[in-house]
Amino acid sequence: GKAAAAAAGGGLVVPEIRFTKLFINGEFVDAVSGKSFETRDPRTGEVLAHVAEADKDDVDRAVVAAREAFEHGKWPRMSGYERGRLMNKLADLMEEHADELAALDGADAGKLLLLGKIIDIPSAVQMLRYYAGAADKIHGESLRVAGKYQGYTLKEPIGVVGIITPWNFPTMMFFLKVSPALAAGCTVVVKPAEQTPLSALYYAHLAKLAGIPDGVINVVPGFGPTAGAAITSHMDVDSVTFTGSTEIGRTIMEASARSNLKMVSLELGGKSPMMIFDDADVDMAVNLSKLAIFYNKGEICVAGSRVYVQEGIYDEYVKKAVEAAKNWKVGDPFDATTNMGPQVDKVQFERVLKYIEIGKREGATLLTGGKPAGDKGYYIEPTIFADVKEDMQIAQEEIFGPVMSLMKFKTVDEVIQKANCSKYGLAAGIITKNLDIANRVSRSVKAGTVWVNCYFAFDPDAPFGGYKMSGFGRDQGMLALDKYLQVKSVITAL
Ligand code: NAD
Repeated sequence: GKAAAAAAGGGLVVPEIRFTKLFINGEFVDAVSGKSFETRDPRTGEVLAHVAEADKDDVDRAVVAAREAFEHGKWPRMSGYERGRLMNKLADLMEEHADELAALDGADAGKLLLLGKIIDIPSAVQMLRYYAGAADKIHGESLRVAGKYQGYTLKEPIGVVGIITPWNFPTMMFFLKVSPALAAGCTVVVKPAEQTPLSALYYAHLAKLAGIPDGVINVVPGFGPTAGAAITSHMDVDSVTFTGSTEIGRTIMEASARSNLKMVSLELGGKSPMMIFDDADVDMAVNLSKLAIFYNKGEICVAGSRVYVQEGIYDEYVKKAVEAAKNWKVGDPFDATTNMGPQVDKVQFERVLKYIEIGKREGATLLTGGKPAGDKGYYIEPTIFADVKEDMQIAQEEIFGPVMSLMKFKTVDEVIQKANCSKYGLAAGIITKNLDIANRVSRSVKAGTVWVNCYFAFDPDAPFGGYKMSGFGRDQGMLALDKYLQVKSVITAL
């Protein structure tokens, strides 16, 4: 339809927006307050839709529905196989509606339509199917207790799970959390980011079509300090899983501590180092490090934002990287020839430009970019700073935009020390043909994911999460399922 026409180069297309209300207990409903908020199209800054705005009362309603579905509903009681079957049905429906879904995220978040269709939606579908397959493989252990009792562990769903997501990957973030929660037999209250609420509401609709019972998935768009905080401080929410900034992660732990000590898992910010060694193929290094920072306009927690290049190839790397940045086409994300769309909103746009000013003031050398691109919308040129020092703000703080900080190094020890000189520890990249270097650096770098001669290689089976202030707990893999399960030891006298 429209999206396909746009992909063929048909200009600015706005998808049809069908769902703008809260989804509670299987119904689309208005907010108790009657309030709504605007979500904007970052290509133009214009209003895309008015979405019902959840506040505390709405979160309460959603938690009541989720609690009822958990305590008395079918979902936690049906067989894992049956849950998996319904999850797979939802995955089928997503595949059927992939074009529309990619267009929704495209217009709401400024994401490339083409990549939405070939990466975001299929990866979310894969995530759902991975955990659908796990739903009937959840089991405990048998124990021999104190030599004379027989024991076993039961793995039980943890209960009502609050899910709070960021705006950079609206679809992936939703399914990263919802899929294992559903497989475990939990019920969920999801608060999508206020910048990008539309696809989550669509998924709620598809879940109902798939036959997932009412109350199992509730979606309450709204703002962090109101709807988000109502979830994290709720006395009847058993666990919160969050992806977002380190600052809000801290707020969420505090809210848990002050309320019912709900379990918390946090996937937070990053400032990931990309380490390129003298023996690397420079063209490959440029290609990977360009993707690592400019993919999804740099709005990605694992962005390779600190690039360390060894001195022997530094000059060649710089020349080629600047050329690559200049050729990275900024434009309408619905145009199939575009490499990079607009930043998600005005706040983010201004934040990135502010960091570019800081970089200049701190004395880094601006090699390319550094300005808005075009005269409307929130587009920014791919930007590269050289001569960056570890203690500069642009080397320490997460910019979450298309800004690369480039640094030269001499020895392996030096780059390990510099790479670890960060409060974050989400990911790291290594480019070398030398196996000793690859192994040594992989083991020494403090990061939850290390990519060697690749970047952004993801799989539902590979645990994902942070060291240090990038958070704790893991998404993906069988490990992530445990976040949604309680373990009960049952001990029986023989
Ligand atoms: P953010 O922390 O501002 O917001 C994330 C979510 O938290 C939103 O839904 C927001 O409404 C909600 N929120 C805000 N205040 C809240 C509060 N007081 N209580 C409860 N919820 C609240 O982050 P953002 O700007 O949307 O996203 C960018 C950040 O997310 C970056 O730091 C990025 O690194 C991080 N991120 C991390 C990962 C990861 O997997 N580690 C992935 C993507 C993004």
